Amino acid sequence: MILRYEGTRPPLREFGILIPTARNRPQQILDALRADADLGREAQWLIGPDGSTIGRADLERVHDPAYVERLFGEGLEAVLMSVFELVDEHGAYHRYDPAIATRALSGMFDGTLHGLAGTCQCGREALRRGFCFYLGGGSHHAHYAFGHGFCVVNDSVIAIRRLQHEGEITRAWVIDVDAHKGDGTAALTRGDESIVTLSVHMAHGWPLDLPALDADGQPHPSHIPSDIDVPIAAGAESSYLPRLTDALEELSRYPRPDIAYVLAGADPYEHDELPSTRDLRLSLEQMYERDLRIYDYLGRLSIAQAWLMAGGYGERAWEPYPPFLAHALLHKP
Ligand SMILES: [Zn+2]
Repeated sequence: MILRYEGTRPPLREFGILIPTARNRPQQILDALRADADLGREAQWLIGPDGSTIGRADLERVHDPAYVERLFGEGLEAVLMSVFELVDEHGAYHRYDPAIATRALSGMFDGTLHGLAGTCQCGREALRRGFCFYLGGGSHHAHYAFGHGFCVVNDSVIAIRRLQHEGEITRAWVIDVDAHKGDGTAALTRGDESIVTLSVHMAHGWPLDLPALDADGQPHPSHIPSDIDVPIAAGAESSYLPRLTDALEELSRYPRPDIAYVLAGADPYEHDELPSTRDLRLSLEQMYERDLRIYDYLGRLSIAQAWLMAGGYGERAWEPYPPFLAHALLHKP
């Protein structure tokens, strides 16, 4: 089943943010799936919001209460300026022009909360149906007391802790194959044996090139390891799939979870346009095989699969999804 939420990410330009974004990726994916005659009527494979909402308590199970207070209070705009890097080191606006904004910057957080509800619903649908792919989510860079990398709060950890709180699940895995390390997820779940994290990512580059110490002289949490980390060096694309298979095998040594969240970023794709992902260039076939291996692996173990779209930049960032989704919709896990 595919889950679509509308309006979670209004165009950044409406908020005065001048970061170039591609066309609507969920729409491009859905257009391709609708053109696939094998899939039948979309009512059979596409669902929308179930009306559930996300509250402050859901965020406080994961993030610093003082940070959550800023998000729900006067500090929100400053947090968003920092997360989207809208001020440079000299204090001047960076790719930000409030004069062209048609909406208040703080309004962006409403979309974030709406999108978070989708990540939670994706988990519930996965528990009920075996597989659900949410055309959104994957904000894996948000840490305990701050957001960065365009991630305000960490949606997969918020969803898992909520499902645990509601008694729906006990254990979860997070399998993160976005090009960037799932640094926030690793840090937030360190010491929590009920959540096991696997991240396959570029060996170098953001966030792994951040200083070892933060501004207060404390170790920067982006360097906290996942339970299993698989760093892929530049030019080592041919090792990607074998190392993914080995990592999944290693994951089997942990207790079986009730659910796995999969962060299926498209930014390892060779046609991704974000300059910082240039070191990892998987072909369309390798991307398909990546997703298939995870899907089949979880299917063999009968683990509920909640997939999130995560990163992907540029005009072709939608391309890796339809072949895998068509397969998943036609072949039950
Ligand atoms: Zn990414």
